[in-house]
Amino acid sequence: MNFLYVGRNEERTSALRHALARNNISFERTSTPEHAFFKILNEEITALFLDLGEPDINGQEVLTSLESINKDLEVVLITEARDIDGYRPELLRSCFGYVTSDILAPHNLMVLTQLTDKITIKARLEKLKNTSIIDGLTQLYNHAYIQQQIDEEIKLLAPTGDPISLVIFDIDHFKNYNDTNGHPAGDRVLKKIAEILTSSVRKFDLTGRYGGEEFVIILPGTKLTTALSVTERFRKKVVGHKFEFGHLQPLGFVSASFGVATLDHKDISDRRTLINRADQALYKAKNYKRNCIWYYLHGDYNHYQPSLVV
Ligand code: GH3
Ligand code: MG
Ligand code: MG
Repeated sequence: MNFLYVGRNEERTSALRHALARNNISFERTSTPEHAFFKILNEEITALFLDLGEPDINGQEVLTSLESINKDLEVVLITEARDIDGYRPELLRSCFGYVTSDILAPHNLMVLTQLTDKITIKARLEKLKNTSIIDGLTQLYNHAYIQQQIDEEIKLLAPTGDPISLVIFDIDHFKNYNDTNGHPAGDRVLKKIAEILTSSVRKFDLTGRYGGEEFVIILPGTKLTTALSVTERFRKKVVGHKFEFGHLQPLGFVSASFGVATLDHKDISDRRTLINRADQALYKAKNYKRNCIWYYLHGDYNHYQPSLVV
C-alpha cells in the first residue's frame, strides 16, 4: 500500500505520516500535482491525499484529470468544507472523503481508519480470488479452474473450428520417491516440475496441477502433431533434469508418463470426452513402460514415436 500526499505543508505531512504509520502504510510526499500524476501512472499508489490548502493546487482540475486516467485510486481531500462548495457533485462523489487540516483530530482519524480498512479488505479479497484458482505448492492453476478453462476454451474455439489439445501427465513411481526420500523432497520435485512446465509452454497455454502428482496442459488452437512435439520436448526436459535422488528411482531418473488428446472441428465433443481420452492415453502410457507418450486418434490409442509421422 502506497499513500501519497500532494502538498507542501510540513505539519500536515508529519501528522499524516504519524497517523498512517500505525497501520504500517508506506507514505510519500510530492509537492506538485504533475509529479503526483507521474507517480500514479508509474507506481502502485493506492490512495492520494490532496491538500487544497495549497494555493497552487486546483482541486477541481486535479480531480478532473484523475477521472480521465481511470486508475483504481482512493482520493481524500484535505480541506475545510467551504473550499469545495462549488465543486461538481460527481467530482466529489468520486472521492473517498475529506479530512480537515487538523489531521489528527478524532473525526479525521475516523476517515483515515475507514480508508485503510477499505483498502486492506480490497487487497485481501484480491488475494483470496487468486488463491481459489491457484495451487499453493506449485503456483499452477488448480483442478477446479482447469476444468472451467477447458470448457471456456472449447466454447471459444468451437465456432472457429480450431483444434484444442489436452495433455495429462503423471510422475512415474512417485510413491517410491516419497517413501525413499521423504515427503518434503517429493514436494520439491513437484515444484521443480511445475517450473520446467511453465517455461516449456507458450504464454496462452494453460498449465495446472490436476491432483497430487498429476498435471494438465491445455493447448488452445493446437493440433495433435504439434501437441505431441511440445509434450516430447517437455518429457525430455524432465528426464534431462538432475533431480536430487533421481538415481534412486526405478528407472534411474525422475520421469513422467503422458496422455494426449485433441478436439477439432470434425470432432464436436465436450470436456468430459476430451479429458477421458487424454486420461485413457495416460493409462496406456503407464501400462506400456512409463516415461512415454500415448495419444488418442480416431478411436484408437497409440504410442508416440517422434520418428514416425502421426
Ligand atoms: P505411477 O508410476 O503408476 O504413477 O506410480 P506412483 O507411485 O507415482 O503412483 P501412486 O498413485 O501409487 O502414488 C502417488 C504418490 O504421489 C503417492 C503420494 O504420496 C504422492 N503425492 C501426492 N501428492 C503429493 C504431494 O503433494 N507431495 C508429495 N511429496 N507427494 C505427493
Ligand atoms: Mg504417479
Ligand atoms: Mg497419480
